Amino acid sequence: MGDPRDRAAFDGHDRPFVRGRWIGALALAGALVAALAGCAHMGAADARPDAETAPELVPLASVAPGVRQDMRYHGRHNFMGRPVAGYEAARCWLSRPAAQSLEAVQRDVEPLGLTLKVFDCYRPQRAVDDFVRWGKDLQDQSTKAEYYPRVPKQELFRRGYIAERSGHSRASTVDVTLVVLDGRRARQVLTGPLADGGEVDMGTPFDLFDERSHTADTSLAPDVQRNRQWLRALMQRHGWRNLPEEWWHYTLEPEPYPQRYFDVPVH
Ligand SMILES: [Zn+2]
Repeated sequence: MGDPRDRAAFDGHDRPFVRGRWIGALALAGALVAALAGCAHMGAADARPDAETAPELVPLASVAPGVRQDMRYHGRHNFMGRPVAGYEAARCWLSRPAAQSLEAVQRDVEPLGLTLKVFDCYRPQRAVDDFVRWGKDLQDQSTKAEYYPRVPKQELFRRGYIAERSGHSRASTVDVTLVVLDGRRARQVLTGPLADGGEVDMGTPFDLFDERSHTADTSLAPDVQRNRQWLRALMQRHGWRNLPEEWWHYTLEPEPYPQRYFDVPVH
C-alpha cells in the first residue's frame, strides 16, 4: 500500500535536532562534492539517492533465516494482480538494524510455537511509482473484489491507500504477521483456531484496503482483536511502531535512514 499516513506521521512527530544535524551534514557533504568535482549545479535530479547501489541493505535471510517470506509484490498475489516493478527476486531486504531487530523478535516467538512471516520489506521507489500508475488506471478493476471491495478505485489516492512515497522505501518498515508452528504452545499467548502451519487469524488478509484493517477495529471478533494487540505489543517491545490503519505494518524507531528513499531493485 501507499502508506501515506505513516509518512504524515513520521513527518509530523519527529526529531528536529537529529534532522537539523542531518541536513547540516548533507549540506556540508554536498558542498565538498561540488567543490571536488568542480560542479556548481548539483540539482535535485542529481541528488536522487541510491539509484544504483544501496550497500546499507541486507537480505533478511542472512540475518534471520527462520522468518518466513511471502513476498507478494514479486508475484501476482497482490492488489495489482501482477509482479510489481523493482521486485526482481522474492527476497526481503532491510536495513541492518531492522533485520537484526526482527531476528530478536523471531527469537522471542519461536519458543511460543510461532514464527514471523513477512509480506513486504524494503520497497524500491520504482515499485511505489508502479503502484501510482496502477492507481490512475481506472479501467483495471480486476482485483477489486479481493482487495478493495468497499472503496471505489478513484478514491484510493484521496483516502490514502495509494501515495507517491512509502515508508517502506526507507528500508526499515515491514508488513508482517504470525504463523503457527505448534498450536499447543501458541495457545498460551494467542486465541482462535491456531492450526499448525496456518497464519494466526488477524481478521483481514494483508493489504485489504478497508477500515477492518485498522489495527484497533472493534467490529472484529474478540480473538482477532487480542491477536492483533499481542502482535503490536510484541513488536513494540523491540522498537517497532504500528501504523494504526494497517495491522500488519511496522516501522523500526528510530529509523536508520529517515530521509532516504532507496531505489535499487531487489535482486
Ligand atoms: Zn506496509
